[in-house]
Amino acid sequence: MLPDAVTLCEVGPRDGFQFEDTPIPTDVKRDVITALADAGLPRIQVASFVHPKWVPQMADAEDVVAGLPARDDVIYTGLALNRKGLERAHAAGLAHVDLSIATNDPHSRANANRTVDEAIAQAEAMVEYARAHDLQAQVGLQTVFGYAAPGDTPLDRVVRMAERFAARGIESLSLADTTGMANPVMIRERVEAVQAVIGDVPLVLHLHDTRGLGLANVVAALESGVTWFDTSLAGMGGCPFVPGAAGNIATEDTAYLLRELGITTGVDLYAVAETAQRVEAFLGKTFPGKIHRLVGQDSAQARV
Ligand code: ZN
Repeated sequence: MLPDAVTLCEVGPRDGFQFEDTPIPTDVKRDVITALADAGLPRIQVASFVHPKWVPQMADAEDVVAGLPARDDVIYTGLALNRKGLERAHAAGLAHVDLSIATNDPHSRANANRTVDEAIAQAEAMVEYARAHDLQAQVGLQTVFGYAAPGDTPLDRVVRMAERFAARGIESLSLADTTGMANPVMIRERVEAVQAVIGDVPLVLHLHDTRGLGLANVVAALESGVTWFDTSLAGMGGCPFVPGAAGNIATEDTAYLLRELGITTGVDLYAVAETAQRVEAFLGKTFPGKIHRLVGQDSAQARV
């Protein structure tokens, strides 16, 4: 049975923009975020608090947050990968932070030069910091469905980590298919194993469409009871380990799929599509999302 309603969290302003070489002015970022909020996205990840040396596009994270209109129908979140980033997100005035932890040792060593156990210890300290400062923390587990090969992240470790963090008072738990290696069978298996140990902590799926299985994975997750997905405007984004990879599942495509399945999202997919077209025009490129290309076309067959 499918759920009646699903929450979409927009991650394009972070997961998408951070892959763009063209510097995007702060006010353009804010305009896009505001348009997405107006389009009904209830939660938007607006920036990453990483060192600007690693991700120059995110150097204005504080300024982006400072200029956003306060609204009680939208939650703004920021990504923090270490204590310093968490302190910055808090100082910027965010009430919600997204933390992200490696689950796969070769990945953790290559990416952050530490073991997964060291990453867990650091993340636990970050969760404590968040609790002590009234910050709602979402903990995201990276490469849950594979790093160098599909399924090479041990499921028992993912389950142990999920259980451990769920017991620490986090707001929500996210499973990320960072490399786009998940398939519907793996989604079912891993989602259900994690659901069994996290009690009533909401489960989020963060899917990349690297191999074109993104929306098939959404359907499998819906059938397993998942009601919360990260999506990215126009399918922006990529994967740092997969050259030329596609981005996240596209917000407007996911909203379209859910609408066709009779599931409520509250998202105006036409407004999202128009925002996607504006971002494409600004950056002078085409993103992999599909529905935004149809909106505005003068053809009965292009109707969405
Ligand atoms: Zn991602």
